[in-house]
This record gives sequence, C-alpha cells and structure tokens, in this order.
Amino acid sequence: MTLYSHSRISAFEQCRYQYKLKYLDKIPSPVKKTVEAHLGECVHDALEWLYKNVLQKHVPEMDELIEKYSLVWQEKYTGEIVIVNNLSKQDYFNKGIKFLVDYYAKHHPFDDGTLETEKKVWINLEKNFPHKVIGYIDRLVYNKEKNEYEIHDYKTANTLPDRKKFENDRQLALYSIAIKETYGQEKPVVLVWHYLNYNLKIISKRTNEQLENLKKEIVRQINEIESAKEFPPNKSVLCNWCEYKQYCKAWGNSIPKEILEMRIKPDVNSKEKINEKH
Ligand code: SF4
Repeated sequence: MTLYSHSRISAFEQCRYQYKLKYLDKIPSPVKKTVEAHLGECVHDALEWLYKNVLQKHVPEMDELIEKYSLVWQEKYTGEIVIVNNLSKQDYFNKGIKFLVDYYAKHHPFDDGTLETEKKVWINLEKNFPHKVIGYIDRLVYNKEKNEYEIHDYKTANTLPDRKKFENDRQLALYSIAIKETYGQEKPVVLVWHYLNYNLKIISKRTNEQLENLKKEIVRQINEIESAKEFPPNKSVLCNWCEYKQYCKAWGNSIPKEILEMRIKPDVNSKEKINEKH
C-alpha cells in the first residue's frame, strides 16, 4: 500500500522528474522556506489555536489571538527564511495581523458549529484498491440549521483564483468523500475557502456523481503513477516555482554528489515510506 496525498498526485501530473526527486529519491529540497510559507503556517496555527479554545468553551479575545500569532511567528522564524521581494519581515508579520483581525471581526463569536480542527482524513477510493489518499482538513464544521457539513480551508495567498478553480478543485472534494463515508452519503458537504487577504469566503458543492467520477479519476492517476517506469522532466513555465530547479537536468543542473550521499534514508517505521518505490 502506498499513501498518496493530493500534492503528491499533483507533483506527478506537473512533472515526473520532480515527482521522482521528491517522493522516490527523497532528495531534500534545496529551497529554503519562504516568508510566505512562514506567514501561512503561523496564521494557520493561530486559527487552529483559536478554534481549539472555542471547542473548550472559551472564546479568546482578539488580543490573545494576536499574542498567540506573535509567539508562533517568533518561535518558528529562523534565519533560513527567504524574502524575495521589496517587503520586509515586519510587513509580512503585519499582514498576518491584518488577516487575523479581519477574520476575528467577521466571524466572532465563532459559533458556526466547529467539530474538529486539523482533521486527518483517509480517502478510500475503491473496494480492494490497495492505495489510499490522506489529507488534513483545516476545520470541519457541522451547520445545524442547514444540516450539512462544511470543510473549511484557509488561504493566505495574494491572488484570488477565478470561480472555475473552485468548481474544479480536487483537494477539498477528495476530503468530502471521507466526510460522507463517516457521516452518510446523503449528507451534503460544502467546500469553503477563506481567502484571508480579501476577507472573503468562497463556497462550492459537489454532487455524489461528481465525487464518484473524481474517485475513478484518482484511481486512474494512481495506477499510472504505480506503473510508471520513466520519469522525464517536463519543462514549463511552472519550473519557475519548482523547488528542484537548481538540481534539474532539464535546466543543465545536477544534484550535488554530497546531497545524493546524505539524502534522507527511508524511515523503516513509516508504512508510507516503506512502500514507496526506490
Ligand atoms: S525544474 Fe521543471 S522540469 Fe525540472 S524538475 Fe522542476 S518542474 Fe520538472
């Protein structure tokens, strides 16, 4: 059994060579953490903390939320974090505060029916299919009035994708398969994205038929990955965002010998890693 994630499947779709380096050869990424990733992580942590408190019947004050965010920001900020534009570290820190202040003002007292935060889900695709897809839901909600479940996802990106992206999004749709399996196929599941930079909530829904088609499509893709023998690079505009570009043969680069020697060895205690091809 191999454990897949949505990002693992997407990596294969985008470029087989990138997939091989990351998931099969386990070459550590040469790219240091970006400040955008750090901001996203700290905002997610702060919102998780907020809702964990709410679940314990304590609604933190806005100041407490900001204090928590500041603490996480400092704890996780290392000298390795990269800033590639004209903004400063302080600008990014302030962005996070604005996201949280706006979110707090809009959603206080946070009584929309949160069931769990950072919920791990396993997606069963087909009876007897040996591989599984795993994912994490930022926040799972049960909306009592509408008798429906909601999968909430927080986004800290600067850009707002167009409507089509949400209608075709596979990631939250995949998670909704697991939620329906737990709570009943007839229960509606709503997909909710919070674009914090715009203080905007976007929702989308899938029919059971669409979810069945998605399962088939993911099974087809996993079978293709499992049987792949060749992992050629796929040079495209997306290479500009590829973390392995400086190691990529398509760009005339190579993986340094010392990196190959010290690459991460498979962890024998991890089923996912044991079963990955080498
Ligand atoms: S730089 Fe481009 S071609 Fe090379 S691994 Fe990354 S995505 Fe693939």
